Amino acid sequence: MITIPDAAYLIASLLFILGLKRLSSPRTARSGNMMAAVGMALALGGTFILPDMGNFGWIILAIVIGTIPGWLLAKRVKMTAMPQMVSLFNGMGGACALFISLGEWIKGLGWEFPWTGIMWGTDGRPDLPFELVLACSFPMFLGIVLGAISFTGSLVAFGKLQGLISEKSLRWPLQKPINMLVVLGILGAVAACVNAVCVWQFNSAFIWIAVVTVLALLLGVLQVLPIGGADMPVVISVLNSCTGLAAAVTGFAMKNMAMIIAGTLVGAAGSLLTVLMCKAMNRSLAKVIFGSFGGPAKGRAAAAQSDRTQREIAASECAIMMGYARKVIIIPGYGLAVAQAQHLVHELDELLEKRGVEVKYAIHPVAGRMPGHMNVLLAEADVPYPKLLDMEEINPEFEQADVALIIGANDVVNPAARTNPGSPIFGMPILNADKAKNIIVIKRGRGTGFAGIENDLFYNPKTRMLFGDAKKALQELTAEVKAL
Ligand code: NAP
Repeated sequence: MITIPDAAYLIASLLFILGLKRLSSPRTARSGNMMAAVGMALALGGTFILPDMGNFGWIILAIVIGTIPGWLLAKRVKMTAMPQMVSLFNGMGGACALFISLGEWIKGLGWEFPWTGIMWGTDGRPDLPFELVLACSFPMFLGIVLGAISFTGSLVAFGKLQGLISEKSLRWPLQKPINMLVVLGILGAVAACVNAVCVWQFNSAFIWIAVVTVLALLLGVLQVLPIGGADMPVVISVLNSCTGLAAAVTGFAMKNMAMIIAGTLVGAAGSLLTVLMCKAMNRSLAKVIFGSFGGPAKGRAAAAQSDRTQREIAASECAIMMGYARKVIIIPGYGLAVAQAQHLVHELDELLEKRGVEVKYAIHPVAGRMPGHMNVLLAEADVPYPKLLDMEEINPEFEQADVALIIGANDVVNPAARTNPGSPIFGMPILNADKAKNIIVIKRGRGTGFAGIENDLFYNPKTRMLFGDAKKALQELTAEVKAL
């Protein structure tokens, strides 16, 4: 017979799936988020009425301790600090999976063997078969290892993005062999732990499980420290799928359907996101994890040395160019997010539309520093969703555009991705801004983007540079358009 907690888990799981589906469009994302939150509340409620639940006071205290800082952080976080916030929250998910799996293990050792069906001390303690104990405790080991890696890895990613740890790609001698040794150490400690359980040596089993945990925590740090700060979004996405998987296997260990479904959803979503990001950057996951692109800015010095001239333009000239254009395509990038200029860009767009100019936004899948960065930013400024066009949709339209207005974007419009096989971004699909009749670029100076490389588009005869912080430049530009 289906119990009330089972029914709550079932409805919660449906809400998670529907919520995730709705997150795929900015139009429905808010309600999707709400659905998933209601699902989580239902799952929590169902857990509270499980027959063997106790310690309600402690659980409520833990919920209060988690909710208050979580609520405050989420309310106060700046759009540009979102990646590190996601990383921190993901790390907490990993820690949960780690502690739940550890708890299940300790519970198993202390009182009974739910995995084997053999009760503590009731049958003359025959040696247990190694394969049986390993198979039964496998989900718990996986939950401990994946949860620990995700916990410390996410904390290091948070530290790098927050500037608490050097965002450079930190390297040391024998890095890969050391990581390999740690992995072998984990496998060895798991085997030793299972062996100790088989012969009823629970004290040594406790020590070995502690060794597994410490080594897995260390692996999370060792694996993420060498990756450059700019690659952190991909790393966070990988760790996110790790957390999901850890939650799912922990759900197996606890026979909790809601955890299995929610964990699998998170794991699958994280993996898909990782694949999408890698594709959009045209880099393999192995290159992100084991390479050093996006770490120290190798190309920056070279870029700064370039003695070619970039042609400047004044805000008043830009205003004339755009105010009398038929079609303008706006390309937002990371600099727009840093400057928090999303409201101003919307104001400029409305002014131009009032003058009969057609305005569209070209959204590159990896513009900014996290997936969907530009969509979220522009949605916050109430830019209508139909005006935000994906790369495949907008690229054929550049040839008809009188002006491509690039605001704080760089790599996502760099033609080297098409033409220069030696470029680190060669093969990355880009926005065809160079095909527009005129190109205006708003940026502060000659700084490079994430990839740290020179951009020939800024020297194109059709390109004019409007130097300055995006917010200030857009303020001037909107004032000039108003005055036309
Ligand atoms: P970008 O290549 O990083 O370039 C940003 C540009 O903005 C810089 O050249 C900088 O030049 C300018 N800028 C910075 N602050 C500014 C301000 N306050 N006002 C005006 N301009 C400012 O950005 P992007 O074109 O958006 O490309 C994103 C990059 O991130 C890609 O290489 C992508 O692969 C990578 N990435 C993205 C994700 C993701 O999920 N979105 C994940 C991982 C990696 P100045 O210093 O001269 O102003």
